[in-house]
Amino acid sequence: GHGPWQSLNRSALGRDGQIFSWNVKQVEALFVASSITSTMLAISVPPELTDNLHTDSGAIKLASIDYGRIIKEKPFAVLYPSSLDDIRTLINLSYSSSFPYTIAAKGQAHSTWGQAQANKGVVVQMSSLNSFRNGTGILISGDRSSGFYADVGGEQLWIDVLNATLARGLSPVSWTDYLYLTIGGTLSNAGISGQTYRKGPQITNVLELDVLTGKGEFVTCTSQKDTELFYAVLGGLGQFGIITRARIVLEPAKERVKWLRILYSDFSSFSTDQETLISTTGPSHKVMPDYLEGQLLMSQSPLDFYPQSQHQKITSLINQYGIVYLIEVATYYDNKNEDKRVKQMLKSLKGFVHGFVFEKDVTYLEFLNRVHDEEIVLRKKGLWDIPHPWLNIFIPRSRITDFDNGALRNILLKRNFTSSTVLVYPLLRSKWDERMSAVIPDEEDVFYVVGFLDASADDWETFDNRNKDILQFCVNGGIKFKQYLGHHATKEEWINHFGSKWNTFQQSKARFDPKMILSPGQRIFNN
Ligand code: FAD
Repeated sequence: GHGPWQSLNRSALGRDGQIFSWNVKQVEALFVASSITSTMLAISVPPELTDNLHTDSGAIKLASIDYGRIIKEKPFAVLYPSSLDDIRTLINLSYSSSFPYTIAAKGQAHSTWGQAQANKGVVVQMSSLNSFRNGTGILISGDRSSGFYADVGGEQLWIDVLNATLARGLSPVSWTDYLYLTIGGTLSNAGISGQTYRKGPQITNVLELDVLTGKGEFVTCTSQKDTELFYAVLGGLGQFGIITRARIVLEPAKERVKWLRILYSDFSSFSTDQETLISTTGPSHKVMPDYLEGQLLMSQSPLDFYPQSQHQKITSLINQYGIVYLIEVATYYDNKNEDKRVKQMLKSLKGFVHGFVFEKDVTYLEFLNRVHDEEIVLRKKGLWDIPHPWLNIFIPRSRITDFDNGALRNILLKRNFTSSTVLVYPLLRSKWDERMSAVIPDEEDVFYVVGFLDASADDWETFDNRNKDILQFCVNGGIKFKQYLGHHATKEEWINHFGSKWNTFQQSKARFDPKMILSPGQRIFNN
């Protein structure tokens, strides 16, 4: 059993089928029933739900903004649920209506292309479940022999999961770079970071899910039970159900982290060394880092990671080469012997620039929460709540050098996008589960994540146009890339994105959300 979770669900399930036989007062809650005719339809909503449905301009505005600040779709109402049953009632009302309205779960709206918005539908503000959880949003169980895990509400933030598990000397194993994201939001995508090459994406470190489907049914699913829903939901872009609980794998946490940045003047040495580090059979397999990513350093890149005394020397390296590539690695440790392991790891590397290895020693929490420090700085400068025309793509290993030449050098550098934050790091397909909805490139064992993470207060279109040119470069060159966290303009593009997974994806949609109610902002079925 799952302790308190079971009783929560049971009380919710106990009302099954009774929603429409309640002594429901006719309430003047108006939904825009059809975006085509804009007919207004009055439907009956249980009073306990109406109290939590907000239609004031403040609530509407908040629900039509996301981290991207590019797409702004207005919902008709926002539900601040005070229980899981509130959400189920909302779904049931739509599902049984002859004019179903769309519903989008909104985690933290850290999407960049309106994925958590619902044009003329209802947005569910998931964070408002916190008071209902009453401190039970994160529950830790298990033991040393069978393993530890946490049962976590879909609305919970990863930073809170980290703090709660660290208090017990435990930690999730797979992360995103930034932790103020929700469990439901990252599991709907994949959840990737420097740990993914070893541990798999976050979606492969989930043991069980509670899902409220597009038919308003509560289902507990695992890799053994209701498997179609389990695999569909993981990486499923919110299309099949709302994740209300996930059981997350935990492991004992280390206390400290050696955090290194190793600089390269050429792409070939950089990617060769990255692939050496992630190789399970190569010379360094005994000293594999716990985390591996990579980034570009260009003339406008911030240098705050490095000691002030080194800035000038780094700047001249950048001036000489235009792009300096850096491998970022981290190893977790408890005792003092870590220096030896780091030295051994560096010995396995061939091509970095001598004298350009920089190391920090920080707590485990400081390391995992590192992007939050950047957030604080950017917020102070007014550079956080501005448009983010992001592009994230997965590039097959065999074409990554072409991508460096054609996109990084010929487009990015040549056109002077030297303030862009660009991540480049390899992942292993063997760590992904083919049965899940998340999409990665076909065939090759290694593929690279390339993230263009720009922010622009006044000119996001310039960055977006550049990104379109990068995608066009890939298309022209026959590079079989896949987008991550992407948006596609047409259904054909989505079909192309899912490739061999489209049939299954579509079938699961027909089974679990046949009225196409959920997460319309992805624009897969609601184009
Ligand atoms: P939202 O944006 O609110 O929702 C995302 C989608 O999931 C929407 O379609 C929504 O309807 C749906 N959804 C939300 N909650 C649920 C639920 N409970 N059940 C079902 N569907 C739901 N991603 C990475 O993988 N790796 C990174 O390193 C990384 N770094 C990031 C850094 C920053 C600064 C930011 C802003 C984002 C980063 N992301 C990263 C992207 C992040 O994973 C996505 O934004 C993701 O959508 C999570 O954000 P969210 O929890 O706010 O979800």
